[in-house]
Amino acid sequence: MPTKTAVVTGGSRGIGKAIVLALAEAGYQVAFSYVRDKAAALAVCDDVERIGGECLTSQCDISDTDSIKVFFERVEERFERIDLLVNNAGITHDGLLATLSTEAICAVIQTNLIGSLLCCQQVVPGMMRQRQGCIINLSSVAAQKPGKGQSSYAAAKGGVEALTRALAVELAPRNIRVNAVAPGIVSTDMTAALLETHEQEVQSRLLIKRFAMPRDIAEAVLYLAERATYVTGEVLSVNGGLKMP
Ligand code: NAP
Repeated sequence: MPTKTAVVTGGSRGIGKAIVLALAEAGYQVAFSYVRDKAAALAVCDDVERIGGECLTSQCDISDTDSIKVFFERVEERFERIDLLVNNAGITHDGLLATLSTEAICAVIQTNLIGSLLCCQQVVPGMMRQRQGCIINLSSVAAQKPGKGQSSYAAAKGGVEALTRALAVELAPRNIRVNAVAPGIVSTDMTAALLETHEQEVQSRLLIKRFAMPRDIAEAVLYLAERATYVTGEVLSVNGGLKMP
C-alpha cells in the first residue's frame, strides 16, 4: 500500500499542529500551510521528520484565492496524489453584531467558509480521478449552540457543516467521504482570552470537567480519516458534553 498524503491548512500551531503530528504518526506524509510563523512551521516539520514522516510546509493565506492555488501547486509538485484534506485553518472576530466592522465579518466568512470551499475545490478533481479521497472540515460547537457575540463565526461554521453535507452527496459516487469535526472549547491561542476571563463559568457547563486539548480533536480527525469507512456527511461533536445556558 503506497504512503497516503494528507494536506492540512493551518498546521503550525494549535489544533492543526496536533492533526499534522497525529497523521504523521499514523503513517501519512503531510503537507501543511502556515500564514505568519515560518519558524514554527519548520519546527513542526522537524517533529514530523523525527517520527519518520515526510513533510512539506508552505505559506498560504486561505482568504486569498491565488495563495491557495500556489499552495496546492507546490503540494502537487512534491506529492503524487492527495488522499486526505483537513480544512483546519480558521479565525474568530467575536463581538455583538452591531459593533462589528464589515471587514471583521467578511474576514470570518472568507477564511472559515470560503477558504474551506476553495481548498476543497483544489483537491476534488484529483480525488475524483483517483476515485478515492477523504475531506474533513473543522466546524465548531458554535454552529449549533452559538454563544453571544458569535454571529459571524456561527454563520461561517454553519456554512461549513452545510458544505460538508452537500459535498458528501456530490462526491460519494466517486468514493470520497466528507465529514466535519465540531470541537467545543479547546485550549489553544484562539480560546486563551476566553479561558483567562471565563474559565470557571465555561468549565461548569462541561460534562467532562476539562477543556479539550488539541490532541483530542486530532484523534477525532484520525478516526474519521482512517476508521470511519461507512461515515459520510456527518458532523462529529467533540465537546466534552458542553451545555449552553
Ligand atoms: P488557532 O490556535 O488560532 O490557530 C489557527 C490556525 O489557523 C493557525 O494555524 C493559523 O495560521 C491558521 N490561519 C488563520 N488564518 C488563516 C488564513 N487566513 N490562512 C491560512 N491559515 C490561517 O486556532 P485553533 O484553536 O487551533 O483552531 C483550529 C480550527 O478549529 C479553526 O477552524 C477553529 O475555528 C476550530 N475550532 C477551534 C476551537 C477552539 O476552542 N480552539 C473550537 C471550535 C472550533 P498561523 O499560525 O500562521 O497564524
